[in-house]
Amino acid sequence: MNETVRFLQSLADDDIDIPKLVNCVIIDAVRAGASDIHIEPWENSIAVRIRLSGVLNELVHLPLDLMPKISGRLKVMANLIAHENILPQEGRAPTFPEAGNVELRVSTFPTVRGEKIVIRIFDPTNRSFSLTGLGFEEDTLTVLYKLLARPSGLVLLTGPTGSGKTTAIYAALHHIIERAGPTISVATVEDPVEFNLSMISQSQCNPARDYTYPVALRSLMRQDPQVIMIGEIRDAETANIAVQAGLTGHLVLSTIHSGSTAGVFARMINMGLEPFLLSSSIVGVLGLRLVRKNCPVCSETYTPEAGLLKLLPDEIRQTADFRKGMGCTACAHTGFSGRATVTEMLIVEEVLREAVLQKMPTRQLQEVAIQQGMLTLWQMGMRRVLRGETSFEEVMRVIGFEGF
Ligand SMILES: [Zn+2]
Repeated sequence: MNETVRFLQSLADDDIDIPKLVNCVIIDAVRAGASDIHIEPWENSIAVRIRLSGVLNELVHLPLDLMPKISGRLKVMANLIAHENILPQEGRAPTFPEAGNVELRVSTFPTVRGEKIVIRIFDPTNRSFSLTGLGFEEDTLTVLYKLLARPSGLVLLTGPTGSGKTTAIYAALHHIIERAGPTISVATVEDPVEFNLSMISQSQCNPARDYTYPVALRSLMRQDPQVIMIGEIRDAETANIAVQAGLTGHLVLSTIHSGSTAGVFARMINMGLEPFLLSSSIVGVLGLRLVRKNCPVCSETYTPEAGLLKLLPDEIRQTADFRKGMGCTACAHTGFSGRATVTEMLIVEEVLREAVLQKMPTRQLQEVAIQQGMLTLWQMGMRRVLRGETSFEEVMRVIGFEGF
């Protein structure tokens, strides 16, 4: 039984201590290792769900009439306007001493049934920013180390929300600092700064005060940086500055949203950047996804269904050690425990540079990258399936079939 349920059972309905209730929910989520809490008014109850290893799980259901009080309490905690419930708001509670001093990012969103609240949980102690600790495959790491040793150029990380981009980019910075120590000048512009790193100047954008990515970056360029990390490229101006910085003797690391790794070029061309600037500045694109790992306690050999097996060439199917978690108390009957990164490393060398210059469509660029030796997300995910680290179904859920 979790804290929230124990607390609710200890009282009569009409004298619920709302601050205590909210605390119990947060404590339960932190103890379970959740990344987010969703508090959402449904038809007959408030659904409280927590995201564990990327998947939502129900924590508890609460009476619907508590919603205004719960959202009121969270707004107080996150310094938001308490009476504002027509427009969305975002704020943060920097420390939550009741559960390991985690930081909470609260966002409210008006729905027709009342406000929906999502709380992101940041645990500053729960992070090691070591590239070797991310579970990258050896060949990916070797290439990444080479890219990070370059004096200039643009290295982009791409993947959907929750694919491990932020952790990976922090680990990359950490690696650079470990290698170069105090001899290198590293600065970041982020929105928001998620973790504090030693020996790195991190600056947080503040769009409300017009301190945007482009404004911050233009100032930063006068600060003699060698390595620049840009939290995210999401507009043409930021993209232009990133490219220029990469072309003028800076190593620039950033993330960008794109449907696929090779799609980063089309995304930036759509922002109005010239292909020749991209082909000469971007040195590598790392696509990322996270798959849940089989629970070591209950994972067993199994045979995936025929439809899935048909996707694999015969010789590969025969050597595979297909495994899947069956569900046990150690993994809360999910069959999974922890996550592993699946990567797709696209290196921009002569042939690909030429293809970008010719404005090849994404599909064709991807083909060129594969011909040049790129292993796709699907292939890298399958490596983990064939070694029994995750299930076939999990890779299908996260990556989908891309062909061998
Ligand atoms: Zn298990």
